[in-house]
Amino acid sequence: MVATPPVEAQAMPLEGLYTHFIGGKRVRRDEEPDLIRRNPARSDQVLGAMRSADQALVDETVRVAARAWEQWRNTPAPVRGKVLLTAARLMEDHLEELARLIALEEGKAVKDGRAEVRRAINITEFCAGEGRRLGGYTSASEFAGRFACTVRQPLGVVVAITPWNFPIAIPAWKVAPALVAGNSVILKPASATPACAVRLAEIYQEAGLPDGVLNVLVARGGGAGEALLDAPEVQAVSLTGSTSTGRHVAARLARRGVPFQGELGGKNAAIVLADADLDLAVAGIAEGAFGSTGQRCTATSRAIVQESIADAFLDKLIARAQAYRVGDGTRDDTDVGPAVTPEQRSTVLEYLKIGAEEGAQQVYAAQLGDLPPGNWVAPTVFDRVSPEMRIAREEIFGPVLSVIRVPDVEAAFEAANAVEYGLSASLYTRDLRAAFRFVERVDVGIANVNQPTLGGEVHLPFGGVKASGFGPHEQGREAVEFFTKVKTVYINHG
Ligand code: NAD
Repeated sequence: MVATPPVEAQAMPLEGLYTHFIGGKRVRRDEEPDLIRRNPARSDQVLGAMRSADQALVDETVRVAARAWEQWRNTPAPVRGKVLLTAARLMEDHLEELARLIALEEGKAVKDGRAEVRRAINITEFCAGEGRRLGGYTSASEFAGRFACTVRQPLGVVVAITPWNFPIAIPAWKVAPALVAGNSVILKPASATPACAVRLAEIYQEAGLPDGVLNVLVARGGGAGEALLDAPEVQAVSLTGSTSTGRHVAARLARRGVPFQGELGGKNAAIVLADADLDLAVAGIAEGAFGSTGQRCTATSRAIVQESIADAFLDKLIARAQAYRVGDGTRDDTDVGPAVTPEQRSTVLEYLKIGAEEGAQQVYAAQLGDLPPGNWVAPTVFDRVSPEMRIAREEIFGPVLSVIRVPDVEAAFEAANAVEYGLSASLYTRDLRAAFRFVERVDVGIANVNQPTLGGEVHLPFGGVKASGFGPHEQGREAVEFFTKVKTVYINHG
């Protein structure tokens, strides 16, 4: 038997939050912890420790969620919406606490944490309104005395599987549409960020959500996480994560015919044409590449720059990059926090090596200064990257920008599409014709002109194509649809 490593006998700032949340209360397993989370900015500090779920706890959570559904499905949708609205107000009250929790547990700069919580508030507010709009449509019937319509009904128990990089916003944007549609939810957060998920569930409970309607189950992806996928009561799964995880989970669910929504990896490009406002482009690309430590699915990983302005672009970009301060995310003056885990840091460092071996020129790497042991990664820029190189094709998920020089607009579009991913892309130009051609040609789910590859507004769809997405997009007016089933109704009153 493999011994479980001892948990350091020191104060663990998030210890109480390293727990499952089932049936409206925190639930801990007595066994020795198998999940020990260290502060990404201070490797010597343990934030919390817990025992993740086993099959028995998965079964119990599914039972609890299925029972709670009977009451929640019969709660009128506008009343469900009011619970969401109260939850949004409570998130606002707790904004600073949640932003600091994100900074501590995930590592990102607290200012990015605040923006993340605002996004969670926005989607929750938006979905609250959907409670009053939920429904199908009526239609003319072919027959006299027959009334025809459709209704949208909840599915039952649904599962939300989330990554660590937006540990409040991504759970919030899956949970809100699922709940307002009348489902019970089992949220399975990434093992690196369970505390954020538990706080979100507690806020919903404080807002009046009945016990058991939203549960948090902390389970290892390949272990009890799979048991969750196999539970017969689970009617749909929405997952955000890497493409390989998404494809694996989709295949497993396909065996039971369970609907799957996957928001997956990205390798987003920003194109800068010769006529672009260079300052605007540099500001957007620097934030896209280095902000949130490059750990955004919409991060700018490639800058595709017209050769004639490439040197001027790089001079400005490097000057801008120098202003990004790397440090502990919980500090207000930090711009770039650590990578989330030592493993993620190793991945980024490995890609720096690969880039050098492939012959790309490293033209900038930030000096890290005097930092405690942590998962630090330096904002880095590679120039003269060609589209075939691995650093131009593979998702790095760190503050690393690859600059690809191209002769003209057509070559820029070709380079932008020369990856398996298709989440987000940007074009910087003053040429309206180029802008419209870009929107037509670029193979992504989100196309931006004269603004960064980042983010999106919650009342518009968010999601990718090609290897970046699977199934219907999230957010926007369509958000609720994935979490409902349509029933067509004929009433003969003739
Ligand atoms: P990951 O794929 O390792 O894990 C995502 C989630 O899936 C985690 O909760 C994990 O425990 C779970 N999981 C893994 N294997 C599983 C299995 N067999 N059964 C059930 N659950 C399983 O991703 P990550 O490292 O947490 O997050 C980073 C990835 O997420 C990046 O690829 C990034 O691009 C992507 N992402 C995409 C979007 C988007 O909207 N497209 C947004 C954020 C992050």
